[in-house]
Amino acid sequence: MTEPGHTAPHVRFAPSPTGRLHPGNARTALVNALFARRHGGRFTLRIDDTDPEREVAGAVDAIRADLRWLGIEPDDTFCQGDRSTNYAAAMERLRAADAVAADGSAWRLRLAPGRVAWRDAIHGEMVVDARHLAEPVLLRGDGLPTYTLASVVDDLETGVTHVIRGDDHLTNTAVHLRVIEALGGAPPVFAHLPLVSDADGAPLSKRNDATSLARLRDHGVEPEPLAAYLVALGTGHAADATADLAAGVDLAAYGTAPPRFDPRELAQVQDRWLQALDAEAVNARRTPRGGPAVRDAVWLAIRGNLLEKRPDDTWAALPRLDALDAWLAILETPFRGVIADDDAADLALAADLLEDGADGGDAAVGWLDTVSARTGRRGRRLRLPIRLALTGRPDGPPLGDLLAILGLERSRRRLLGETA
Ligand code: GLU
Repeated sequence: MTEPGHTAPHVRFAPSPTGRLHPGNARTALVNALFARRHGGRFTLRIDDTDPEREVAGAVDAIRADLRWLGIEPDDTFCQGDRSTNYAAAMERLRAADAVAADGSAWRLRLAPGRVAWRDAIHGEMVVDARHLAEPVLLRGDGLPTYTLASVVDDLETGVTHVIRGDDHLTNTAVHLRVIEALGGAPPVFAHLPLVSDADGAPLSKRNDATSLARLRDHGVEPEPLAAYLVALGTGHAADATADLAAGVDLAAYGTAPPRFDPRELAQVQDRWLQALDAEAVNARRTPRGGPAVRDAVWLAIRGNLLEKRPDDTWAALPRLDALDAWLAILETPFRGVIADDDAADLALAADLLEDGADGGDAAVGWLDTVSARTGRRGRRLRLPIRLALTGRPDGPPLGDLLAILGLERSRRRLLGETA
């Protein structure tokens, strides 16, 4: 909520259309969007397309799609490419004020000596001696505005109150403040989020597709846990995908060290989130993807069994909603389990002993005890052949749950090696 006397904040996320979003810039986007939501402000998507040579075809649509997938819908969007007259007008004012100097056919800001000081909402007090700064090019030789000019002009003219971006722009801020001053504007609050590194501490490359959101989605990462994980990253707070993320977002909570993007931690966040979903929520999400609906009892039995064993995969610990498909094929369609020759006779006996009521938890225990007494099998030798006959898999929910889901008749037939 906006405090009395404060105007609602206006923030922007300003990707260059040079590729897909990766976890690092997705985090910047999320913090901006949630900050606006928390304080009743406005969130703008600004496309930084002043450099046509670096632009990748389709990148803008891909960025929008990635944001939508994450649950972010900007209040408005604009492209810097559409604002060239604004940049030209700002240049005119700077020339008239003698704030810029020609350098060949380019134009640079004249930097007066002295210290530039400001308070960053994440990095605290910052002081940069202008002697250490190169005079920035504002207009290129080919007449195109640079990022520095375009970004400052946009932030001033659109009334941006908080610039929340990656800390690769931390030192640029001193220059930006000088441009703001030369244009007679009021500086926004700056908050520079430390860049995210990979699990080994190496920088997440901006254009490395291996870590793009699209790839994470292909691995089975769901947007809610990813968003919760990214927003909590670097704060020391535990990520909780079931919580209202906007209510918890707080610029002061971020540290200044680069946090590590760790797929195993993300997998845990996703696991906790999945376990809290009900069947209705699961279906709402799967139906548009073409997945068959799941019954309550099946979801409750299966939700703890959504790992796909791929031992040397970074994502082995990630429970995937798509893993439900394999279980539904086993439990909800005609299926034939696996029966070893040595087990067939005992399984046939087990089938005979299945009686009404054995499909409940305790009754299933009673049935297993009887099968054990009659066959002399115990523990894994007793349970594994039954499990394989019922599901074809060595892992899965408790046998009592399986019997309840399959029902007596189909269970009996599967124990006899039939398709049921
Ligand atoms: N296009 C810039 C980037 O992607 C935007 C930086 C900013 O937010 O000012 O790094």
